[in-house]
Amino acid sequence: MTNIVSTRMLILGSGPAGMSAAIYAARAGLAPVVVQGIQPGGQLTTTTDVENYPGFRSVIQGPWLMEEMQAQAEHVGTKVVWDHISSVDLSRRPFVLRGDGGTEYHADTLVIATGAQAKWLNLPSEEHMKGRGASACATCDGFFYRGKKVAVIGGGNTAVEEAIYMTNHSQDVTLIHRRDSLRAEKILQDRLFANPHIKIIWDSEVAEFVAGGEPEALIGLDIKNRLTGEVSRIPVEGAFVAIGHKPATELFAEQLKLDSDGYIEVEIGTTRTSIPGVFACGDVMDKIYRQAVTAAGTGCMAALDAERYLAAQEFEALAAE
Ligand code: FAD
Ligand code: NAP
Repeated sequence: MTNIVSTRMLILGSGPAGMSAAIYAARAGLAPVVVQGIQPGGQLTTTTDVENYPGFRSVIQGPWLMEEMQAQAEHVGTKVVWDHISSVDLSRRPFVLRGDGGTEYHADTLVIATGAQAKWLNLPSEEHMKGRGASACATCDGFFYRGKKVAVIGGGNTAVEEAIYMTNHSQDVTLIHRRDSLRAEKILQDRLFANPHIKIIWDSEVAEFVAGGEPEALIGLDIKNRLTGEVSRIPVEGAFVAIGHKPATELFAEQLKLDSDGYIEVEIGTTRTSIPGVFACGDVMDKIYRQAVTAAGTGCMAALDAERYLAAQEFEALAAE
């Protein structure tokens, strides 16, 4: 028999957006259910130091912050479920969602906080080297490359932070960026340029991940200069791809309005999507700011928008009696 979970508010995702929505919804008495997904706690669990989340004078750890958010959400009445949603039907009321384990979720309102996932370069040699030297998370895998030469690919905050972080493990870190200037915040750039263990290869892209040895592992990267076309090889044993993220919206592609980059479109100034009763918050609808604090802020907005939607529905039902 199918296990059915019915709720007034189902929240997909357990990052800062989902957990903040849960805290507000639970405190409004909506007894929300959060489906955690395959990355409980979201992207911040892949990082170490968080220095810009308000309220903490000293440096805090990403995984710790997410544990605290979950504990707070549960404390005020949220049910957190370890499941991953694999199908969604937004044409039915209540909305019907199905988890990997076969559980069916029936929800009066849905808050989508599925965030974003790391992008890869999509080279065949990269696919082959995943787990053999190619990684999308220096803070997760950096430890395995202690004392080895490593490279980080990208020019945003993540790439710069990961390059700096890797100098905890290696004295030979190379940042490879496709342009001649970085996208990262100035304070991070300043730290990068001041770090004697990091060198930068500008205007260049990875042409191939080079494998060798027995058992087979990464031994180098072929780097192509985009201005001259020249290809040169650098010896590295770890390569961290940090070129941004892709919103997790495949599930909704045929049902909700998405923008040209796949982010969920919301009405300006709200978290309302193209379907009444469905709300989106955090990185899944925000390609500009993409911060823990903005994700938390829009999570709060989604809970309040959903609460008002439910109140209006109830008012209409009463008026119709
Ligand atoms: P996410 O954190 O991406 O969470 C998405 C959630 O959705 C996950 O729990 C996932 O399991 C779940 N999910 C996805 N699909 C499904 C599904 N089908 N069913 C159920 N659940 C699903 N920001 C800062 O402000 N400060 C920092 O110092 C900082 N450092 C960062 C370091 C790194 C390495 C990275 C990658 C990001 C960093 N950020 C930082 C950005 C910050 O982590 C994100 O902006 C924030 O986590 C977005 O929160 P979110 O809740 O929208 O999504
Ligand atoms: P991002 O800001 O989108 O930067 C991606 C970088 O990768 C860019 O420099 C981009 O180059 C490069 N790139 C993209 N596709 C590429 C490709 N195919 N080949 C080579 N290079 C490619 O992504 P992010 O750095 O992951 O940051 C995501 C969000 O999280 C941002 O909003 C960021 O501010 C936030 N974040 C914040 C912190 C913090 O506050 N401490 C830390 C980490 C992340 P171009 O510059 O040429 O486009």
